[in-house]
Amino acid sequence: MGVFRRTDLLAAERINQKSWMALKSLAGVRRRQVGGLLHDRLPQAVMHLLRTTGEFAERRGVSIYVVGGFVRDLLLGIDSLDIDLVVEGDGIAFARALAKDKGGRVTAHERFGTAVLLLPDGFKLDVATARTEYYEYPTALPTVQQCSIKKDLHRRDFTINALAVGLNPRMFGRLIDFYGGQRDLKARVIRVLHSLSFVEDPTRVFRAIRFELRFGFHLGQETLALIKGAVKMELFPRLSGRRLLNELRYLFSERTPRHAVRRLADFDLLRSIHPTLSWSSRLNRRLIEIEERLVWYKIFCVDQTISPWLLYVMTLAEALPEPAVQEVLERFPFTESERTDITAARFAAQHVCRQLSRRPPLRPSETVRLLTGLSDEFLVFLLSKNTSASAKREISAYLTTYRTVRPVLKGKQLKVLGFTPGPQYSAILARLTEARLDGSVSSEAEERDLIARLVEENRAG
Ligand code: ATP
Repeated sequence: MGVFRRTDLLAAERINQKSWMALKSLAGVRRRQVGGLLHDRLPQAVMHLLRTTGEFAERRGVSIYVVGGFVRDLLLGIDSLDIDLVVEGDGIAFARALAKDKGGRVTAHERFGTAVLLLPDGFKLDVATARTEYYEYPTALPTVQQCSIKKDLHRRDFTINALAVGLNPRMFGRLIDFYGGQRDLKARVIRVLHSLSFVEDPTRVFRAIRFELRFGFHLGQETLALIKGAVKMELFPRLSGRRLLNELRYLFSERTPRHAVRRLADFDLLRSIHPTLSWSSRLNRRLIEIEERLVWYKIFCVDQTISPWLLYVMTLAEALPEPAVQEVLERFPFTESERTDITAARFAAQHVCRQLSRRPPLRPSETVRLLTGLSDEFLVFLLSKNTSASAKREISAYLTTYRTVRPVLKGKQLKVLGFTPGPQYSAILARLTEARLDGSVSSEAEERDLIARLVEENRAG
């Protein structure tokens, strides 16, 4: 027994009660330093940001950790710049103080004790108060209470996402693993932290499928049994449309949405989208066709953007009877344009394909008139359908070339030619574009000739 008491040590090391608790609770945990890994893998600017944030936390007498997906990806050797920080203390106050120190803008969510800090150099930090969450009833949003990093990690979805790395100078780079996250990363297994996990939050099932497919991991046996139990408990129909849609959006934005749909079917969860939705070989074929068209789109429409997740929802809607589509549209808060696409995929696709397959074939300008205003998602959906070769050709040509065709003459030159800006400009430019599309003009001189003819016609008319 020495003469120093705990309080003397605390005073000497200038660490507060909470970090003392954290250090104490680390006893018995396998220590591992990942400082070297951080140094090797992270860009210098990110490393600097983490170090200085840790130093700032130390000056304020709080402990800070980088947590969740960032740590998981670091250990898996995957680049991730989604920095989630957890403060043992008031996360919002910390984010505001850090913004004062480094500059930047803070958006706070008081209810959850979280804040987003946008730094002047473009970095984004998600800062949270270490917190436990209570669920008033299954599927409810949680009630929040401040706590230690250990408890904070315990509320997380899977062991592989319940890892943290200390950032304060005295523990910079120390990996904190209370729940076997490292072991499970090595074993490539997804495991929940406790048996009520899916009852508390059934959306975790969708997250489990997402990580399973993304990393090629498998579900732990007990986790698998818990998922089946949650499905039997009929928790999913009670989830709000907003939360479910969010998860579907994430799930179908991964690399292999077809496998995700298959996995949902394995767990009898397609029913959570609509009770009549089920797996079939036809649905599988349609998903493969969509996949193939998306590959084509990514190669040939490099500069365009598309929401693949929406295409998958459109394909699921196509498999539903008419009244079910309406029910899906009522349940999920889609945006107006998403609703239009889903409805069009189910009810208008055949009609557009028929128009595009007409004999004699449409002129390019007619195709453009027909397809302008339709989303790329809908057009790729059309391409994936079993339609005529000419329809496919027209849609591809529209996506890759027709819609980029412009006349050489611009508004400036029209002004020189004596036209007044306004609707007259648009009408002439539209005529020039059509003529270019249909091949009746192909040079500036021919465009000028066409304008002259139009003026002549106008006068005569
Ligand atoms: P991604 O790479 O897809 O962004 P992520 O793990 O970073 O994966 P986020 O949704 O950004 O996922 O969540 C950050 C962290 O928050 C997770 O790693 C996990 O620890 C925790 N988390 C997120 N959603 C839940 C949930 N529904 N239940 C419990 N913990 C969650």
